[in-house]
Amino acid sequence: MVLGFLLARAGVEIVVFEKHADFLRDFRGDTIHPSTLELMHELGLLDKFLQRPHQELRQVSAQIDDFSVTVADFSHLPTHCKFVALMPQWDFLNFIAEQGKLYQTFHLQMVSEVTDLVEENGRIVGVRAKTPQGELEVRADLTVGADGRRSVVREKAGLEVIDRGAPIDVLWMRISRRASDPDQTLGRFRAGRILVTLNRGDYWQCACVIPKGAFEEIQQKGLPAFRENLAGVVPFLRDRLAELGSWNDIKLLSVAVDHLRGWSRAGLLCIGDAAHAMSPIGGVGINLAIQDAVAAANILAGPLLRGTVTDDVLKRVQKRREFPTRMIQRLQVFAQQRLIRPSLGIAAPVTRLPLPLQLLQHFPVLRRIPARVIGMGFRPEHVHTPDTRKRS
Ligand SMILES: Cc1cc2nc3c(=O)[nH]c(=O)nc-3n(C[C@H](O)[C@H](O)[C@H](O)COP(=O)(O)OP(=O)(O)OC[C@H]3O[C@@H](n4cnc5c(N)ncnc54)[C@H](O)[C@@H]3O)c2cc1C
Repeated sequence: MVLGFLLARAGVEIVVFEKHADFLRDFRGDTIHPSTLELMHELGLLDKFLQRPHQELRQVSAQIDDFSVTVADFSHLPTHCKFVALMPQWDFLNFIAEQGKLYQTFHLQMVSEVTDLVEENGRIVGVRAKTPQGELEVRADLTVGADGRRSVVREKAGLEVIDRGAPIDVLWMRISRRASDPDQTLGRFRAGRILVTLNRGDYWQCACVIPKGAFEEIQQKGLPAFRENLAGVVPFLRDRLAELGSWNDIKLLSVAVDHLRGWSRAGLLCIGDAAHAMSPIGGVGINLAIQDAVAAANILAGPLLRGTVTDDVLKRVQKRREFPTRMIQRLQVFAQQRLIRPSLGIAAPVTRLPLPLQLLQHFPVLRRIPARVIGMGFRPEHVHTPDTRKRS
């Protein structure tokens, strides 16, 4: 959506296909990081964007048994917004779609599922999509797969996927929030269980981290036992855990970390999770996908307008974005394998914090480092594409 908006804004004719009728899907990950908010500022949209309901997360903290730890502090970032905005992804996508529709070159096809690629002489020249009006074939100078970690586009294009492995899954749920509750968004580690509680105003968005594939076993032990586990981690939620009335209230999201060896082939490019599925750790996946979109628009707008999108131009997108993506994935894999997975199921309480966390507690200035990595990532992008409406 972001790439479509930026290209349409620069005067390129684009069609975005979305298979669903709306963007209303829960537990999609709702973090809009300072780097993305900075892009909104560069586009002149920040004030309008922040009028949408959101919460502001200025620090990342954790409760590890009896230790309270602040891991990241965004207040010193060199950006206009020194916080992560928590906003439902559908609000974000609707906002971008509304901005896109201001341009005649922007076409959004909802309820249109891409099912196949059109290939001629080894080159991708378009897509086939299932729409309410029947099958549609659209031809294009460039096809971009931005269809997430189960990308049909990358599969049909035969692009090689390298799996980095993920030893965890996440169970998402929503539990009501009361005025008397603490207001802090926290990662909570207690007696071998991990629960992240995101303050969403009138409810808590909760993410329970479990070992990969363990959901079936958890279900077999029964819902009361699961609720009791949650209450053990966050005692103040105990009196309302009955809101989790059936397993339908708990959504399993299988975590994957992977990347394509090559993000493109003639006539086709993949970006976002389609090029590199991200773990939820750090909540950076949306922002990396947006950074890819900005880099792709910067590199491709000119060649698309001139009709000169060569294989080399497409490779420049991967060259630009591969390093920042791989660095974040390395950190996520490290955190998953060395910190999170080992601490799952260890019932003995933590009596001493690991050294890096001790350092973060004793030297608050160090919290700026994780804040920079999470909030801005490596090699933050800036919008270089023109706004044709402003020019005309
Ligand atoms: C459990 C979990 C929690 C996460 N939490 C966070 C978080 O808090 N913050 C964060 O930044 N990241 C989070 N992530 C990662 C984040 O969700 C992704 O990295 C990010 O959404 C990738 O964006 P994308 O646009 O590439 O793909 P997606 O967001 O997956 O978007 C792909 C879009 O394409 C559509 N689509 C798919 N197939 C087709 C098709 N064939 N035809 C037409 N349309 C199609 C889909 O409906 C969807 O709208 C989380 C991931 C997981 C697994």
